[in-house]
Amino acid sequence: MGGRQWPARCPVLHRCMHGRNIISAMEDNFDRSSRRDESRRDPASRRKLRKVRKTGDEHRGRDRRLAETGEETPTFRRIVSRHDRRSREVDEAREMLREGAGEAPENALAGIVTEIVPGGCIVRSDSLELRCVLRGMLKSLETRERNVVAVGDHVLFVALEDGSGVIERVQPRDTILSRKYKEREHVVAVNVEQLLVTVSVAAPPIRTGLIDRYLVAAENGGLRAIIVVNKLDLADAEERESLRSMLNVYSEIGYAVVYCSASSGEGLDDLRAVLRDKTSIFSGQSGVGKSSLLNALQPGLELRVGEVSELTRKGIHTTTTIKLLPLDIGGFVVDTPGIREFALWDVSRQDLPHFFPEFAEFLGKCRLRGCTHTHEPGCEVKKALEEGRINIERYESYCRMIESLEG
Ligand code: GDP
Ligand code: ZN
Repeated sequence: MGGRQWPARCPVLHRCMHGRNIISAMEDNFDRSSRRDESRRDPASRRKLRKVRKTGDEHRGRDRRLAETGEETPTFRRIVSRHDRRSREVDEAREMLREGAGEAPENALAGIVTEIVPGGCIVRSDSLELRCVLRGMLKSLETRERNVVAVGDHVLFVALEDGSGVIERVQPRDTILSRKYKEREHVVAVNVEQLLVTVSVAAPPIRTGLIDRYLVAAENGGLRAIIVVNKLDLADAEERESLRSMLNVYSEIGYAVVYCSASSGEGLDDLRAVLRDKTSIFSGQSGVGKSSLLNALQPGLELRVGEVSELTRKGIHTTTTIKLLPLDIGGFVVDTPGIREFALWDVSRQDLPHFFPEFAEFLGKCRLRGCTHTHEPGCEVKKALEEGRINIERYESYCRMIESLEG
């Protein structure tokens, strides 16, 4: 035989999530999602969720509504959720794995794709970073379809004497973040674990309705969501107190809330603790300080602050190189310059209640099957609301969202 399987522990980065044994990583993800909703543990209910999911084309109406309400048009169409793993790209990656007969050359190393460049990609491994091309068979696939290898892919590669490398294998993907680009689905990054829903104390002020939408998007994408409140330096003691009581509802339903300031450095250690050894992406309205936070967290990055989004708002074309930025503390952050303030949406009416973790214990108990929890008699969610077990603002967010969804 002489070949080798994936190493039990990846030598890329000792503390890196990607390095873990695949099974244990899967178990981790499983625990995380089941923590908030036991019902999603059940394979039958997962299948049901998959069945009712809509396709991207059905969301045009929503885009129009977004335009009418003055909200940003989503650049990213969706995060393909765990339930949607049968997307074309994943199938291709799996196909390649199968065709590879499960074995790679003895001298193959494990690495992570950090950037796509013309004709290949940059792969980062423990001790080196090198430009790689795809092995012959994979290459032919790449010319027919985009995104055979995407930023965040875990690969096995062989280093050549000239300092370049050849990718031999692509590991199955856990999550896929994609957008529609020139009428095709463009995979932005894969294996992202956390969505950092970033808001700011002021300029722009917090809108909880928007937080709720991002949280739903994260749940839909199978990502862990964390709320990051930036510009804490702008709040005095009293304002901090009211801020905490406003956001307390999120901590109560299981979301971590991190208070910090890119300017003063306050709370950045808490943010580092959240990012450590994970692959994360910052999202949130333009101007909340996503670039500033990244710059503060990782000295030497020198991302442009307050400029890129101005350009895109004026419709000027900006080149966007998506990169996986390694953090000194361990882990990665996906940097998507120019397309940083994105909304994410691809949710069906049937799925929506499942993405409100506080509804979980009441779902499936309403008198009517197919209860939307808005007006039906004998609704357990509404009963919980009346009993004060569900927060009224969160419930109103839910109602607004379900109203905006079709079918
Ligand atoms: P992005 O659009 O979310 O990437 O936001 P930027 O990082 O470009 O920041 C937008 C503006 O907010 C810039 O003028 C920053 O200087 C400012 N800013 C960012 N973080 C903070 C902070 O913690 N406190 C204060 N007072 N201003 C900040
Ligand atoms: Zn109900």
